Amino acid sequence: MSRPARHDRRRRGTEPVRLHPKPDQAFLGMPAFPDAARVALGDQQLRANLRHATHTIRAKRLNAVGEMPDWQDLRMAAAGIKDETLAHLDDYLVQFEQAATAAGATVHWAVDAEEACRIGVEIAQRHRARDVIKVKSMATQEIGLNEALEAHGIHAWETDLAELIVQLGGDTPSHFLVPAIHRNRDEIRDIFTERMGQVGRAAPDDLTSEPRRLAEAARLHLREKFLSTTVAFSGANFAIAETGTLVVVESEGNGRMCLTLPDVLVSVVGIEKLLPSFADLEVFLQVLPRSSTAERMNPYTTMWTGVSPGDGPQEVHVILIDNGRTRALADEVGRQALRCIRCSACLNVCPVYERVGGHAYGSVYPGPIGAILNPLLHGVTDEHDAQLPFASSLCGACYEACPVAIDIPSVLIDQRAAAVREKAHHRVPTAESVAMKAAAWTFGDAKRLARAQKTASLGRGVARHVGWLPGMLGGWTSSRDLPEVPRQSFRAWWSQREDTATVKALEE
Ligand code: SF4
Repeated sequence: MSRPARHDRRRRGTEPVRLHPKPDQAFLGMPAFPDAARVALGDQQLRANLRHATHTIRAKRLNAVGEMPDWQDLRMAAAGIKDETLAHLDDYLVQFEQAATAAGATVHWAVDAEEACRIGVEIAQRHRARDVIKVKSMATQEIGLNEALEAHGIHAWETDLAELIVQLGGDTPSHFLVPAIHRNRDEIRDIFTERMGQVGRAAPDDLTSEPRRLAEAARLHLREKFLSTTVAFSGANFAIAETGTLVVVESEGNGRMCLTLPDVLVSVVGIEKLLPSFADLEVFLQVLPRSSTAERMNPYTTMWTGVSPGDGPQEVHVILIDNGRTRALADEVGRQALRCIRCSACLNVCPVYERVGGHAYGSVYPGPIGAILNPLLHGVTDEHDAQLPFASSLCGACYEACPVAIDIPSVLIDQRAAAVREKAHHRVPTAESVAMKAAAWTFGDAKRLARAQKTASLGRGVARHVGWLPGMLGGWTSSRDLPEVPRQSFRAWWSQREDTATVKALEE
């Protein structure tokens, strides 16, 4: 198939700087998974980058998890806390709102991405902000906040190192934890050298691809933004219903700069981020760092509860977003996906993700969790979402790695069934549905099946020479040998055997 030129150019970094990928370029309008995966599989550099990164993180995680004799108990405790929260989510949300409001925060409710963005833009406009800084946040990417701000002339600057690489490269993230996992150090040096100077402090002329030099260039570039911007946007890893506290965990300290320096802080938080009590954090602050960065504890854990007079942002907003989460919550099998703490362990162990990377999923949520979360949030009416549950070998490695024990393979199978049911509603039958109906009709009657087997036996000579199947069935034989049809079916053999036995018995 033809290579989508726009996507390819973006990965090679030859497009002019685009700091805010438009939603249609970022995620919507991307080719469906099979086509995007085929393109990714042909990119040797991408595959080498992904293989190196995922294998390194995977090995470290195994060590970090192996140190904990009670790891399975922690996993089950984390899953249990999340399930309890989801079962009483309405109560916990109201409790959170009351506690956060009492502490001086303003809580907003957004049913979808559009409403969340409108609220965020209005707050920035009220403060006449031309620039805002951002803590790495998947929720703000999910709702397209950067694009919404840009549409109103407000520049949103990413401050997480990997997000900065993605933004300066006019790129889209391809991993939860390491959004620029598809880039190697040389590519990052080129991006910094070419583009930093266009939007702020330039990278030094003699910049090398040594990690220390790259980090220093980013630090100096970002320092300017931190010190000159008064409005910040963040997400949150956890929201504590009991106290109204928000929690952000990160490794660089850039997040803490964003959360403490500006005058105004706006946090966009998915409603599934709730935890009932402060004590519940104990479990999650153990399982999250070990599963994500393979660290025993997180380098920076920032917590804030409303406004502290004279300390940190003096205006604090929380935008609680639904955006499909209540849809997922209503799904009996799929609701467990809302336990996800975005650690990315399932991405790093997935054989499909390792080979195609995050862009092929066409969503801010890639990998095994993305393959179930996207259809759960949006439904399977869209071709893009409907194909994601099939982007898996069902090997189960994701379930084994998941610190909140999400049974991703079972949800994948359930979502596949939903996608097939959705297709069956199409008024024009597809070739696949016609073939399945014909198979059901044949297998539904013993005589019909016997006749079909006889016909297949007669055609065995032709099949042996041809070796492939025509039409849509060709997809099956394109990567497999066509098995030889036996000369005699089992039924024919059995019936012949019975006849022979009867004759023998009569002769005796
Ligand atoms: S599904 Fe589990 S392993 Fe994957 S990102 Fe979410 S919490 Fe981590």
